[in-house]
Amino acid sequence: MIVWNRACERLTGVPAREMLGTRDAWRCFYGKARPTLADLVIQRRTGEVPTLYDSHQRLCEDGAHLAAQSWCDMPRAPRRRYLAVDVSPIVDDDGNVTAVVETLRDMTDEKQAQIALEQLATRDGLTGLANRRCFDDTLQAEWQRALRQHQPLSLLMVDVDSFKQYNDAHGHVGGDECLQRIATAVASEMRANDLVARYGGEEFAVILPNQSLKGAAIVAERIRCRVESLNLPNLGAAKRCVTVSIGAATALPSPETEAGQLIATADAALYRAKHMGRNRISLTREADGELPAYTV
Ligand code: GH3
Ligand code: MG
Ligand code: MG
Repeated sequence: MIVWNRACERLTGVPAREMLGTRDAWRCFYGKARPTLADLVIQRRTGEVPTLYDSHQRLCEDGAHLAAQSWCDMPRAPRRRYLAVDVSPIVDDDGNVTAVVETLRDMTDEKQAQIALEQLATRDGLTGLANRRCFDDTLQAEWQRALRQHQPLSLLMVDVDSFKQYNDAHGHVGGDECLQRIATAVASEMRANDLVARYGGEEFAVILPNQSLKGAAIVAERIRCRVESLNLPNLGAAKRCVTVSIGAATALPSPETEAGQLIATADAALYRAKHMGRNRISLTREADGELPAYTV
């Protein structure tokens, strides 16, 4: 280390007198030993950049001018920061690297704003679940994946029963709290690859990748029981507590079919569950469209 300016001192909390003449700049940025971007260039190990940084770009065709970004828990700085790092080698007349200039920019505010925007774009404000747009994008992506991998894709449509009466009895704010409780209950039944979204007002949708109709029925029944066991009073409902009706559908995607059909099939099953008295699940396999639905 031959230059360590005031901005570096302020950013890392490490004074120049401790750094000059040393070779372990990583100590300023990370709690555990690992190369900095400059180390990777000097040691010709730039192939390791993708595993060590969140994102990276080449700034020049020679591959030695690099930019990379990642979060750093700098041991002597007051808080975690998102740093953008540029490195440029200085070469002598024979092309040997004699030094590397590393420039750091604190991008924490920009990164946090970006994360907040992504949250706003994909999350439902009331429940914190995925929003409708995120649901649409995920369903398309999962449909394509299921098509490529010849796997089934299941969908649940979950609608709160007699929610209008709940709102009438508890007011809109009480209704909002009820939706939050239901959202938490539904989300708690999910596996890592499942997606639960707020589809609309008092309606939720659950995407279950690589799940058979039988498996989807088990998840649906668990959700139904879970919501019932919250025991939130709703005198307008048959059970006198808040319940949900669930339509489940499963498809084996083919090039001739599309994800919209799966939604329509799950919606039709939901309609049947409502029609048959609510607080129940109803199932249809897409190919069974003409067969009587099975209702639990
Ligand atoms: P069903 O059993 O047939 O589903 O009856 P329902 O009363 O649940 O259905 P309906 O579609 O008649 O009413 C839905 C109600 O959900 C009406 C609407 O005011 C309420 N709702 C929709 N979104 C929200 C919300 O974000 N907050 C609150 N508090 N209420 C909502
Ligand atoms: Mg409803
Ligand atoms: Mg509804």
